[in-house]
Amino acid sequence: MNVTYLNGIKVDNRNLISLFNPSFLYGINCFEGIRGYYSNMKNQILIFDLEEHIERLYKSALILEFKNPIESKLLKDQIIDILDLENIKDNIYIRVTFFLSGESSWSETENISYLINIRSMQSDLLNSNNLNLGLSSYKRISSNIMPPNVKAGANYLNSRYALLDVKKRGYDGALFLTTGNIISESTGSCVFFLKDNIFYTPSIDCDILIGITRNRILKLINHLGFKVIEKKILTDDLKYYDAVFLAGTMIEIKQVSRIENYTYEINNTLILQLINKFKNYVYGLEL
Ligand code: PMP
Repeated sequence: MNVTYLNGIKVDNRNLISLFNPSFLYGINCFEGIRGYYSNMKNQILIFDLEEHIERLYKSALILEFKNPIESKLLKDQIIDILDLENIKDNIYIRVTFFLSGESSWSETENISYLINIRSMQSDLLNSNNLNLGLSSYKRISSNIMPPNVKAGANYLNSRYALLDVKKRGYDGALFLTTGNIISESTGSCVFFLKDNIFYTPSIDCDILIGITRNRILKLINHLGFKVIEKKILTDDLKYYDAVFLAGTMIEIKQVSRIENYTYEINNTLILQLINKFKNYVYGLEL
């Protein structure tokens, strides 16, 4: 299943954008990737934290100085209408993109289009494979260079450099440091650490994209009755932690067994409890 709507109209033609389109040429867009989980029990797709995703999209558009192509409430309704109309009964990924229309300049602010693409995407939540991360020699972009809290297409150039860098050294994924050498995040997800049943994650001043998954996990940890501390984490701290995981829309929750030469516990009972809680939350079974 893969359907696309451009400015509210269903399109099948993939050649709709000019080769001179500035979003294509310069990567100027903002977007959200949103998961939907199909609940057999409820016979319905439950969209993961849709409100929060829409709110972040409009914040990104504001910082990019994009005029809103559609009012946020209408966009939300349109996404829900498309799910009904297409009668989708599958786990899905919804990508909503705001981009510069036509063949305007890269500095265009008024002429903005929006794209909604919905496709099947299986959930990997129960897959227990884990990741080895390398510290990238590329630093995370920072707010006075390119704000990392904007979910902009071009920010993934920074992610691409970092991922390709660590892959050459045999790692599955990269961990970014800020320009001040503080732990930031991975290339498409936020990072959490666990030590003596207390969770730690980089605070929002560590040049992270403030993940919707991250924010939900903060709430779920509290709900489980455990403590989570948001703070500046140094590379020296890496040796102290018992367990590590990444959290983001694509990756969901993925355990990390190694960062450079430090190794971490896999299937720690508290982390398994959290994954289970997350699974229950996305399928609407609790909270
Ligand atoms: N950091 C970066 C750099 C990302 O690209 C993503 C993916 N959107 C995340 C964190 C996780 O954010 P979310 O949970 O909203 O997907």
